[in-house]
Amino acid sequence: MRVIFHVDVNSAFLSWSAVEHLLLGGDLDYRTVPSAVAKKNESGGGIILAKSELAKKAGVHTGEVVWQAKQKCPDLLLVPPDYPCYLRASHAMKTLLREYSPAVEAFSVDECFLDMTGQEKFFGPPVEAAAALKDRIREELGFTVNIGLGNTKATAKMASEFQKPDRVHTLWQEEIKTKLWPQPIDFLFMAGRRTVEKLLRLGVTKVGDMAALSPVLIKELMGKNGVTLWHYANGRDDSPVLEGPLPPPKSISKSVTVSHVLKTQKECEDVLLYIAEELSFQLREKGLTAVVITVALKDRDRRYFSRRQKFSDPILHYKDICDKALPLLGMVYPRNGVKYLCLCLSELSAERSLNGLLFGRDVFKEERLEEAVFALKKRYGKQCVTTARSLHSGAEQLFRHFDEEDFGGGALPRFY
Ligand SMILES: [Mg+2]
Repeated sequence: MRVIFHVDVNSAFLSWSAVEHLLLGGDLDYRTVPSAVAKKNESGGGIILAKSELAKKAGVHTGEVVWQAKQKCPDLLLVPPDYPCYLRASHAMKTLLREYSPAVEAFSVDECFLDMTGQEKFFGPPVEAAAALKDRIREELGFTVNIGLGNTKATAKMASEFQKPDRVHTLWQEEIKTKLWPQPIDFLFMAGRRTVEKLLRLGVTKVGDMAALSPVLIKELMGKNGVTLWHYANGRDDSPVLEGPLPPPKSISKSVTVSHVLKTQKECEDVLLYIAEELSFQLREKGLTAVVITVALKDRDRRYFSRRQKFSDPILHYKDICDKALPLLGMVYPRNGVKYLCLCLSELSAERSLNGLLFGRDVFKEERLEEAVFALKKRYGKQCVTTARSLHSGAEQLFRHFDEEDFGGGALPRFY
């Protein structure tokens, strides 16, 4: 039997912003008032990314729009997101966790799995070790975590979801019947909203109902993923805690929700070109190329449109991203203006061979130019060189105060 810990920072973004504020000499601890991390946006259209316990008590939800949250909680204090701060805090926590086990897997920016099997001789019984670790993080790093203990990653993760904050919970194999099965079905690890809706329609309201179903029936109704969930409901999950860095991303994207409406196709193109510049930088930084480009947008009435195209040659260059993305934008551009725009590059791989002279193009010359631009940006910052069009378009302004980087094509990331 393995012993797995799942460490989950309580209200991560808010806690980390609060700690940073105190460290910089601020005297208000955001965690002691109704507060939330959200993008600043004059029209109140920003989204709540994390909230304090008091904001939660007032009914504020993660993912809701700022003006709605303000209606429920008029004195809600809004804190702007600070991603560099979050990365620093996350790194500090992971460094500390590596003292406890060689197998630490970063599951998201604020969650880690630790394989603590056989570590008892160093750190004592698991529950005591977890309590000491939790207290140490609070003392040394200034924020609280929940630690879930289980014999698998799935059960450890679910254990950390029990009462919050600053708690240690167990969900050992022998506790599944009493602690897991009475939980509502949406408590089940990896059960997404659509899956939950489907299960509820089938009359599956509790995790125990799911566990009791026949796997044959589940496979018929919900396919392979359903069977995986059924195993989780029964406490079975043999996936190992993966050491080392995160696997390479499946896609990179950048999106922006604008406070006014982009009224012309040219305005949208300017924004798209700006995003393309950023993504081509990221591709080169990660040593990747893409073969699929997706352009997605929401119109003034927040209707969603997208167009995706797969290409035969790997794409790396800024110029190629632009040449391929602009026609896709043309296909989905709505008449009533654009509120949200996203560019996504996917099916990434480390394939870097450029096929030389392609239809009279000197790809290598372009490569030298792009590499030179990359080197300049890397050394002097991304603003040091840009295209003439981006320089005059003002698209950069839209991105100045926040970043919606790579959150899976506009969807909220998992760790929120
Ligand atoms: Mg968390």
